[in-house]
Amino acid sequence: MINIISLTLLLLASMPTLAVGVKDSPHALKSLEIYKTLIGMPTVAGRGKVPEMAAYLAREFREVGFKDEDINIIPMGETVGMIVRYKGDGTAAKKPILLLGHMDVVEALDKDWDRPPFELTQDDKYFYGRGTIDNKLGITMLSSTFIRLKKEGFMPNRDMFLAFTGDEETGMLTTKMLANERPELANAEYALNSDAGGGDLDANGKAIAYLVQAAEKTYVSFELTLRNKGGHSSRPRPDNAIYELSTALLNIRDYHFPVMWSDMTREFFKVSGTQLGGELGEAMTAFAADPTNKKASDRLETESSYVGTTRTTCVTTMLKAGHAENALPQSATATVNCRIFPGISVDDVKQTLAKVVKNAAIEIVTLDSPVESPISELRDDVMAAVKKAVHARYPKVEIIAYMESGGTDGMHFRKAGIPTWALPSVFMNPDEMFAHGLNERLPIKTFYDGLDHWSIILKDLTGK
Ligand SMILES: [Zn+2]
Repeated sequence: MINIISLTLLLLASMPTLAVGVKDSPHALKSLEIYKTLIGMPTVAGRGKVPEMAAYLAREFREVGFKDEDINIIPMGETVGMIVRYKGDGTAAKKPILLLGHMDVVEALDKDWDRPPFELTQDDKYFYGRGTIDNKLGITMLSSTFIRLKKEGFMPNRDMFLAFTGDEETGMLTTKMLANERPELANAEYALNSDAGGGDLDANGKAIAYLVQAAEKTYVSFELTLRNKGGHSSRPRPDNAIYELSTALLNIRDYHFPVMWSDMTREFFKVSGTQLGGELGEAMTAFAADPTNKKASDRLETESSYVGTTRTTCVTTMLKAGHAENALPQSATATVNCRIFPGISVDDVKQTLAKVVKNAAIEIVTLDSPVESPISELRDDVMAAVKKAVHARYPKVEIIAYMESGGTDGMHFRKAGIPTWALPSVFMNPDEMFAHGLNERLPIKTFYDGLDHWSIILKDLTGK
């Protein structure tokens, strides 16, 4: 019965002469209902609300016919990871596809916001609320797409899995668990992430480009410490922890890590260069054609927006030294933050720094536990599917794969050997992006224009 009604409504919705707008389709209404419900749940670390959110989604999936055995909620501390299997008929004889999103959000303080953060509100242009972009939009769209496809009776030719994490913004323990400890997911051919990349619009709403996140650099900080026996400041000596550490830091400043590239980064510069034009655009095109072209890579190194795509970078970000104004320093410590090009290990960079500082007395300590992940080189079938979805909305917009500085679930899946691309339904002006910040919002047009995004992609990749 439900199927017949929705089919009728969908048919009506697709007939332009009738006054049934896209907002009234069953898929639009269900998507909005899910979005609203999810935004209303403060799934912030420490508040223990993620299990509630997963239970709500599980009810929605069950209602349209997903079997209990295909819905799995895995508790981990106060949060959970969630796996939903959309069983295919296996005719493609291909491994499953994973669809990623995170259910948790960054904290938002009621008193600092203009509107209640954990309630979906709107004016005539925007939806407001914590998670409207990061990442409850992704969870909503992936979930409502599964529901829609199931109601349509769509039978994929291979399995698809939703893999929703519950602490992406903090410890990523559920991410590590889903990426490494679940045999049904480990077998995946690749993963599509809803939580990075997306389309850029200019201030007039014109589409500039659509970005697919295909890699993350390794984020790591090192602490460099030099100790000294110190003494009275009235009796200065040539050996001095602050001077010596300063010299070491200037050596780091002057060091250039070797130029690196992959098929993905060359494609990035080829497309960006053509788009941008001018002298910088030419340097990009030249680099894409021949990454050993030193003139081109030197030019790109002077651009803070592009240097990171051509090499590993390290920069000093913090200093602490000395203990009294009238004493020679007994120690000096600097924090050096590096963004490492995929394929280079954290230890390699540590050894390089040890050589570059030219002072064997400096101790170098790696902070935290950095995650090294490979580049996911582009695949024609995935790029064709995303092109179909994106061009249905913005017919000519360029689609560009890029590497970012690390921080999404994707790195753990890539590290586990599952190529991952982030390709969400979002299109917006980057100046209006307030993810993690105050008054997070999403253009209402983006919500409705993106309703078919995942269906187009998934039908293209798993349809007959
Ligand atoms: Zn996120």
